[in-house]
Amino acid sequence: MKINELVRENIRNMQPYSCARSEFKGEASVYLDANENPYNSPFNRYPDPLQTELKKEISKIKKVPVENIFLGNGSDEAIDLLYRAFCEPKIHNVVAIEPSYGMYRVCAEINNVEYRPVLLDENFDVEAYKLMDASNDKTKIIWLCSPNNPTGNSLNFSEINKLLSWFRGIVVIDEAYIDFSTKKSLLNYLTLFPQLIVLQTMSKAWGNAGIRLGMAFADPEIIGILNKIKYPYNINYLTQQHALQALQNPMQVEKWVALILEEKEKLIKELQKLKLVEKIYPSDANFILVKVENANAIYRFLIQNGIVVRNRSNMPLCNNCIRITVGTPEENKALIDTLKKFHV
Ligand SMILES: *Cc1c(COP(=O)(O)O)cnc(C)c1O
Repeated sequence: MKINELVRENIRNMQPYSCARSEFKGEASVYLDANENPYNSPFNRYPDPLQTELKKEISKIKKVPVENIFLGNGSDEAIDLLYRAFCEPKIHNVVAIEPSYGMYRVCAEINNVEYRPVLLDENFDVEAYKLMDASNDKTKIIWLCSPNNPTGNSLNFSEINKLLSWFRGIVVIDEAYIDFSTKKSLLNYLTLFPQLIVLQTMSKAWGNAGIRLGMAFADPEIIGILNKIKYPYNINYLTQQHALQALQNPMQVEKWVALILEEKEKLIKELQKLKLVEKIYPSDANFILVKVENANAIYRFLIQNGIVVRNRSNMPLCNNCIRITVGTPEENKALIDTLKKFHV
């Protein structure tokens, strides 16, 4: 498979902006190349456009070589860049599981690319042949998300495997919630499938949604294309510094994950006791999708009591479903106590 042949022609042929910081990469004592203010160190300097130090640390933790890593202003940046790299507006299309993360569709619409949703089955699982049936020779990307948002389950591994061997375009698997799951990440498959892109993020288990740092892991050729079209300084200095600090303490993340998973089990037990709960879907993530009697009424009632959950009622297959993020023990108790007071 030739990745370069999948790339849009204008992107393949363009020259990227060459910033001062990427033209000169060595160490010097006097920097007069970028029109920066010489005062106010360290904030006066443009940040490393390729985040070399940060990628080295991520590489150690994820056991993926640096040349297979792209960093974005959240995974959301990577999602948008993938459209811009591979999809010709009004000509190409993408296929995605449904229901799933809303940004795949939003970015398709922004980029004027046809979005082809394929409904999951009643267990929210995927069937590779259905995705293949929805695709044609104009399909550039297939979007998967596992554990999936908003459903919480992991997708069937053998179906993903089938898709990777059948489909001749890009396959993205969004693993934003992988740190909460006992299932295997697809990071180990990068060398096997050059068209595979794995998305992860600092926003969930790593507790750093505020710094905006997303990761895309892929073949070096794909990484090169993303680097070519991104804003030169897409990851700001403060984010790079803070992420470096956070990466020094992966044990903290393990502790948070253990605590959240324990709380999730407690929350599920408490929810099961409530009459208004009709079904709790299996979750490999830090949230639970719950089918209730009347999602709109319950959502409004919780809001009136200062508690915000996500009403997913209008999503396909999610009729009367709310999505609840696992919070602290106190927050979860507040939720349960409030739900106990709900009467129709
Ligand atoms: C939260 C989430 C993300 C994270 O996006 P960031 O831009 O990295 O904060 C990505 N994908 C899914 C499915 C999510 O739920």
